[in-house]
Formats: sequence, structure tokens, C-alpha cells
Amino acid sequence: MKKPKYIFVVGGVMSSVGKGVAAASIGKILQSRGYAIANLKCDMYVNLDAGTIRPAEHGEVFVGEDGIEADQDLGNYERFTDQVCTKEDYITTGQIYAEVIKRERNLEYGGEDVEVYPDIPKEIIRRIEACQKKNKSQITIIEYGGTVGEYQLLPFLEAARMMKSKNPADVFSILVSYLPTPKLLGEQKSKPTQHAITDLYSVGLNPDFVICRSDLPATLDVKRTISNVCSLPIERIISAPDVYSIYDVPVNFEKDNLGVTLLKAMGLPPRKRDLIEWVRLANKIPKITKEVKIGIVGKYFNFKSVKDTYISVIESINHAAWSQNLKPNIIWLDSEKYEKDVSLLNELDKLDGIIVPGGFGTRGVEGMILAADYAYRKNIPYFGLCLGMQILTISYARNILKFKNANSTEMDPNTPYPVIATMADQVEKIKNKNYGASMRLGAYDCVLLKNTVAAEAYKASQISERHRHRYEVNTKYITELEKAGLVFSGRSPDGVLMEIAELPKNKHPFYLGTQFHPEFKSRPLTPHPLFTAFIKACVKKNLK
Ligand code: GLN
Repeated sequence: MKKPKYIFVVGGVMSSVGKGVAAASIGKILQSRGYAIANLKCDMYVNLDAGTIRPAEHGEVFVGEDGIEADQDLGNYERFTDQVCTKEDYITTGQIYAEVIKRERNLEYGGEDVEVYPDIPKEIIRRIEACQKKNKSQITIIEYGGTVGEYQLLPFLEAARMMKSKNPADVFSILVSYLPTPKLLGEQKSKPTQHAITDLYSVGLNPDFVICRSDLPATLDVKRTISNVCSLPIERIISAPDVYSIYDVPVNFEKDNLGVTLLKAMGLPPRKRDLIEWVRLANKIPKITKEVKIGIVGKYFNFKSVKDTYISVIESINHAAWSQNLKPNIIWLDSEKYEKDVSLLNELDKLDGIIVPGGFGTRGVEGMILAADYAYRKNIPYFGLCLGMQILTISYARNILKFKNANSTEMDPNTPYPVIATMADQVEKIKNKNYGASMRLGAYDCVLLKNTVAAEAYKASQISERHRHRYEVNTKYITELEKAGLVFSGRSPDGVLMEIAELPKNKHPFYLGTQFHPEFKSRPLTPHPLFTAFIKACVKKNLK
């Protein structure tokens, strides 16, 4: 293999303009031309991973096969390239410092003092190269969180500069910048982007490409100005307007010839592109008109972007709905309101189905239990993800078995019926406040019971799914729950852990919860079978 190439994706002007999707799309288009790629995310925070950060603060915590609790962008990478991300694909400032300090304690610096410069950038480079090695990637795309000019980004930018100065022909940077169009002027402005470019120069980097995020396509004038400012041929200024769905982004990049231009810049042959299925899907999405109304009964709504917090759930609904030629209409339902006024639950009647997604802590849980019971009684399709399965079980115990005040020990440690209880290996951890990366995390096998909704959906007898939880169905209550009609259609191979709970089709159109998070494994071209089964049930309900 030729020497590996590295592409740094850096943000300019402001964050949240879709840098992650841009990095994932670059991975996608290079992969579609037959290159082995890797997508790596570097986050600037000191946390060792995203696991201890509030979803409201940082967006969803994406869980990898190996149990890594990572930034939501890894979800974008997986959805776009269908490559499994692991701990090598995710770096934080905290990880870098922890490793350097560990080595210092091991006397690995030979008695020298250990410096922020150059030891921190050097460790960043080591990690970038480790990612390349793991993925055996010909091209590694490294996305930096935040925007150029931020203090905490400096060691990372320095790492990129050091790599570039050593191997100028193999290291590239792409600036993803924002072009505002002030209402008053009605004209795209490139000045903030010009400043971002200057900021990059000041740390010894010059962009090889500029991706212009804006509401409308970048005008030729603006492209010209930017190309002049950074002495780049105009074809290296890429237009990235707002799109109907994120899956349009690679298609749009290709409209501006990003794949070929990028490969040419790297001295690599263009190769034939295989993006047909993807383009077909991207073109189909905006044409779908028939709606399916899905309510998400959750609680992480009181903050900036609900879309970030539940991104994998939203995308899984999208994938499954599109596969059935339906346009998802997602309605956000704050479960706390049902606790104050149960009559509000009748708003669920207007929906085709509801999802209760993952969550932690007591707030809003009673409202979710009420919603689960309502969906049970009114035959509204219900899909529970992790916490949602626990809610389903609690509701069943309370309302069918008449176990008064049944609960999870997470919500009520003194409940008379702890139908959901702390996992055995979690007791010590919780007692010692050992909360970081200590849940049941990552991929586990699950055996499916024949002739169940789950087995029918998966068309398999054994599956593997990703987990992130501390509590589980209490084995003590399984017999009683089963006698009352609940079916545990998925169990751990040793039979001890209940992974899927459901009601048979003759009892309810769709009433199913998973202890795992199926949403992490749904892809646009291969929707998750349980989401598809749920959406199909929602349509059926509609036909009645
Ligand atoms: N709080 C629950 C648990 O820890 C559910 C977790 C989740 O939904 N990811 O078991």
C-alpha cells in the first residue's frame, strides 16, 4: 500500500453547521470509489468519553460494538460508511492527557520534563496513526470538534501541522465554514470565512479545500473570493447548501466533483464510483408524501436541539419509514405533562405509534409508564428502547399483575415490586460512585424465541445488539410476568438476561421493548428490522 493519506476536517465561523455529516460524506464518497477509509473524531473536552455528559448538553451518546461511549458523529460515520467504529476512532483531550500522564508515571520520558508542546501533539499524532493502522485505511479523515480559533483546539491543529510538515504530500486540510446571508442584505457574505482561513494560517495550516455551508448554494462570486483569499483553484471551493435530508450531502458534494478533485489533490487515481443505491435513496426521500406519525415520549426536550439528543432514534425511524415509502412525522411528547394531567394522554390517539427511548433518572418516568399503559389499552403500536423496555415491564406489572407501585430500583430503591433491578455487577460500582464507562456496554449476543414478533422481524435465531444500561428485568418476576402474557422473546445466550419483551400479535398490534439500543445499527440502505416491523404495524393500525 502507498503511504496513507490524512485529511483534517476543521470548522470555521461557527459550530453545528454539519461538520460531522461533511466528514462522514467525504468518507462515503472516497469509499464509493474503492478506497479503504477511516473516520476519526477528535473532541476537545477533558472528559475521557461522552458517557458522563448530559445528552441535553452534548447530544446523543453513541455506543460502539466495543462499548465505547462516543460523540454522536460516530453515528453519522457508521450510518454513512457502514463501517463499525471502535475506541481507536474517537479521541478526547482527556484521553490524550491521561495517556501522557500514565507514561510519565511509568518513567517513559527518560527523566525529561513533559511539555504541553510537543508531547501533547505527539500523542495526538500517535493516536491518529493508531486509528489508521486499526482500519488499514488508505485515507483517514480526522474531524476536529469545535472551530478554528478556539483555545482548546490548538494542540490538535499543531498535530496536523507537524504531520503536514513531515509529509506535505500526504496531509490535507478541509475547512468547513459557514456563509451567512443576512436578511437585510439578501447576499451571501464570505468575510467570516476569510477570517477563519486567516486563523488557520496563523497556526501554520492552509486549507486545501473549503466547504461552504449555507442556506443556498455558494454563488460563483463568493467561490471566487474565497479561492483568491486562499490561493486555491475554484474547483476546490465546494458548495454545501441546506438539504432535504443529510443523505443528500454526499450527492451534492459529488455534484461539485469533490471526490475526483480530492483524489487528484492527493495524487490518487479517481477510480470508478459506486454510489447508485445511495443516490437512488437520496432522490426518493423528498418525493415521499404519505405520512406516518410517530410520537417520541421522552424527557430530554428542554434544551437546544432535540435532534441531537435522539439522532440515532430519529434516523432509524427515517430509514424504516422511507423503506416503506412513508414520510415520518415525528412528534415530541414530554412525558412529564401526563403526570400532571392524564387526560392529555388522549393526544396519543392521533398517532400511528409511539416510541419510548432510552433515559436515566426519575424525572418523567411516571408519565412514560402512563403512556405505555395507554398504548397497551388503546392498541397503539409501542416500541421501547432500553428504558422503554423497562417502562413497558413496569407498566405491565402494575396494570396487569396489579403489583402496586412496581418500579425499577433506579427510580424507587424501596419499591415493593422491583421488577427492574440493578444488574449484579453494577451494585459495587454504584456504591463506589464508579460511573465512568462502567455500564453494561457494547455488543452482546441475544437468542430469539421462535414464532415471536422479534424472531419474525429479524428472520434469525441469534442476533447481536449494543447495550448501555445498569438495570435489567428482575429474574424473580419472570414467571409471573410470563404467566400474565408477557413474552421474553430475546434472552442472553445463558438465558439469564431478558433482552426483548413483547406481546404476541393476537394481543396487540405491536408492543415490544428491547433492553438494547437497536437504533445504533440502523443504516439508510438497511433499516433495522425491528424499526421496520414497528413502522409496518403503525401503517396497519392506520388501515383499520
Ligand atoms: N436507566 C436505565 C438503565 O440504566 C436505562 C438506560 C438507557 O435507556 N440507556 O438501565
